[in-house]
Amino acid sequence: MIDMKTEKRLEKLLDITGESICLNCLGRKFSDIIPGPGNRKRAETLIKTFKLKKSSNKCKICKGILEDLEKTADYVEEKIKKLNLEFSTLLVGSRLPEELLSTDENINNHLNIEVESIKKEINRELGKILKERFNCKVDFKNPDIIVKVDFRTLEPQVWVQINPLFIEGRYKKLIRGIPQTKWPCRKCKGQGCPRCNFTGKMYPTSVEELVAEPVLKATQGSGSKFHGAGREDIDVRMLGKGRPFVLEIKEPKKRKINLKEIADEINKFAKGKIEVLNLKFSTRNRKVEIKTSSPYKIYRAKVKLKDEIEPSALEKLKSLNLIKQRTPKRVSHRRADKIRKRKVIDIKWNIIDSKTLELILKTEGGLYIKELISGDDGRTKPSISEILNTPAECIELDVLEVG
Ligand SMILES: [Zn+2]
Ligand SMILES: [Zn+2]
Repeated sequence: MIDMKTEKRLEKLLDITGESICLNCLGRKFSDIIPGPGNRKRAETLIKTFKLKKSSNKCKICKGILEDLEKTADYVEEKIKKLNLEFSTLLVGSRLPEELLSTDENINNHLNIEVESIKKEINRELGKILKERFNCKVDFKNPDIIVKVDFRTLEPQVWVQINPLFIEGRYKKLIRGIPQTKWPCRKCKGQGCPRCNFTGKMYPTSVEELVAEPVLKATQGSGSKFHGAGREDIDVRMLGKGRPFVLEIKEPKKRKINLKEIADEINKFAKGKIEVLNLKFSTRNRKVEIKTSSPYKIYRAKVKLKDEIEPSALEKLKSLNLIKQRTPKRVSHRRADKIRKRKVIDIKWNIIDSKTLELILKTEGGLYIKELISGDDGRTKPSISEILNTPAECIELDVLEVG
């Protein structure tokens, strides 16, 4: 493996750098032909084979950055300790002076070689040191924190990006009158005004706030976002096994929280308004999955009819199948105007009195139930009102199951 090619390359490299080259940079330029592990090991092999003297000058390629990484790690450690962070995975990213990058690349071009870039080596080597110091792992896909080091200044500048924490579970909404997410006051847009009693909100609380507050306290996060698998209206309860959601906590300082205890605390704090179940740690990917999922739903709807109805006429409800639904009037100010096609999968009914029905409906996700009942002035076709040939109104609605 040590051949003429190696010797030629070494000669040229020592010539270009005036023999001022550190072990990492020396080894790196042979990473394609000399076995490691690691560039320092490669350099040692070269030094032994060719009886070289180790250079004590500052490296011409990395300007000493690679030799000083322990010191850089001290800066990082100081920063992390100041933030009092809890994490188990990290990733290192760095910014290097343009000049340094081009020197490294020019040498590769000159030697006509393709070897690891200096940036990759710095990130990896600093990652190794930090991994040891913090007893954590390097994670390229979903790190808890990203340590960013800018080497373009005299002393390296360190930033720590704290990635969000994701927690998933299901929620039940036991009473009517609570929105799923925090709803800023329409008049003051959250500033606080007489209309909202200076709360900045349309409603005193929301599922989001009731779930997020205890979690924010425990994680010391800077904010939160609530992602539900769809949502029910404010006046609709969410019963059964609840609706899936993912809670995103921004910049959490603590991650090792006890979810069982948190769930108990949320349920105590929300005193019969809402309840959470099956809390577990989750990922960004699950957030996307849950947000875009459109599972089937089972509803219980109480329906008021304008005219009395013969029980036998209700058999016609069984014909409900494919529904063409134009965006309802009541949401048209915030939803695109289009026609959706959704199916009613199953329908059962109980007669409460000659003008009141209780319906149990199983439908595809995304069907507006109140409009399925009323017909929304012909925007939803067919509708229960149309089929029964009398105006019909949904006066109470519960979600019993989200598939
Ligand atoms: Zn170097
Ligand atoms: Zn207001």
